[in-house]
Amino acid sequence: VPLELTPQQRELQMAARSLAENVLKPRAAEIDRTAVFPTENLRAMAELGFCGMSVPKEYGGTGLDALTICLITEELARGCPSSAGVLMAFVVGIQPIVQFGSHRQKETFLPGLAAGRKHICFCVTEEHAGSDVAAIRTHAVRRGDHWVVNGHKTLIGNAAAADLCILAAKTDPEAGHKGVSVFLVPKAAEGVRLGTVYDKFGMRGTNTAELFFENVVVRDEDLLGDPGKGSHYLLKTLDLARLTVAAEAIGMAQAAFDSAVEYSKTRITFGKTLSNHQAIQFKLADMATEIHAARLMMYEGCRLYDQGRPFNKEASMAKLYASEMASRVTSDALQIHGGRGFVGNGLVQRLFRDSRYTEIWEGTSEIQRIIIARCVLDSK
Ligand SMILES: Cc1cc2nc3c(=O)[nH]c(=O)nc-3n(C[C@H](O)[C@H](O)[C@H](O)COP(=O)(O)OP(=O)(O)OC[C@H]3O[C@@H](n4cnc5c(N)ncnc54)[C@H](O)[C@@H]3O)c2cc1C
Repeated sequence: VPLELTPQQRELQMAARSLAENVLKPRAAEIDRTAVFPTENLRAMAELGFCGMSVPKEYGGTGLDALTICLITEELARGCPSSAGVLMAFVVGIQPIVQFGSHRQKETFLPGLAAGRKHICFCVTEEHAGSDVAAIRTHAVRRGDHWVVNGHKTLIGNAAAADLCILAAKTDPEAGHKGVSVFLVPKAAEGVRLGTVYDKFGMRGTNTAELFFENVVVRDEDLLGDPGKGSHYLLKTLDLARLTVAAEAIGMAQAAFDSAVEYSKTRITFGKTLSNHQAIQFKLADMATEIHAARLMMYEGCRLYDQGRPFNKEASMAKLYASEMASRVTSDALQIHGGRGFVGNGLVQRLFRDSRYTEIWEGTSEIQRIIIARCVLDSK
């Protein structure tokens, strides 16, 4: 894609590509097979400063812009989607502290997270509340000079490995989305308990689990910003997250496409390679076109974000298109591999499974359509 990159952006993109190719990719199949948290890969990504790429320099990060973050994310997802997914839970999970934390909270938490020494998890979803965040039942009750939190969170990425929970809880149960607050809760706090670690269809290294909060005492200084503004803080976090999910989806689609092109040049049917059958050529042409379109949409969302311009609609469009594109492209790549794509623990079937999650988390495809529809209807 013809895109004017700065020398630093190009250098970081190449560093991520090299890490993905030489370190992440060789371990990806094993991570998927064993569903083990990619500690080694996280350490390697931290060494290049990637854990702190959304953290300002004064708090130990590298303070990169959205475009550079997405360029890096795409490359990492190309090598090992689970590792990129774990890193993204860091990069976007940190955002509520970066954007709305007090100086003390930033000083306390950001340097360790940026260095990859500490891990974070982002706790919103519950049994009865996923897309509808205002329906959460986890609540924090004021007792004297502190809060007492009770609740049960489900589907939380990085939960088992995390040191710090960014926790959404109701402080005013009657106030709908205006009653949601965000707390910074150490996972080692008394009353925080890890539940089931889920066996998953894809992204199997991302350590997704339940967390229970039972009479957890939280101090005022661990409340993020103002009580009742939690929904606003979380939505702001999702803005950057949607662009990074688009980048993950594009990286996975690109890896599947590359594999399909390579295979199509070697597999012979009816006396010629697959790449010489026009039906396969057309499939490859469609895949390349869709990846290209998704990448341009992601770049445009990043450009608007980095210029501080409204980008909500474009970020949702990029996330919606890129994630559904990745499902189509990985499925087509599997089809081109025939039966060999379906058996064992091969690359394309793993990418087919891993990419599916991009349509679900950080706002499902349906939620993106609701946001986009609202934007286009409001602008008329
Ligand atoms: C691998 C993975 C990692 C995750 N990590 C995290 C994490 O770190 N932290 C966290 O808090 N959560 C996490 N989640 C949860 C994720 O954010 C939710 O699954 C997602 O928001 C959808 O919520 P839900 O599953 O409850 O589905 P629901 O909200 O119950 O929706 C079910 C279906 O109905 C559709 N739907 C819902 N409402 C509407 C509507 N108004 N109109 C049309 N369609 C609608 C949805 O799009 C979906 O298809 C993760 C999920 C996965 C799969």
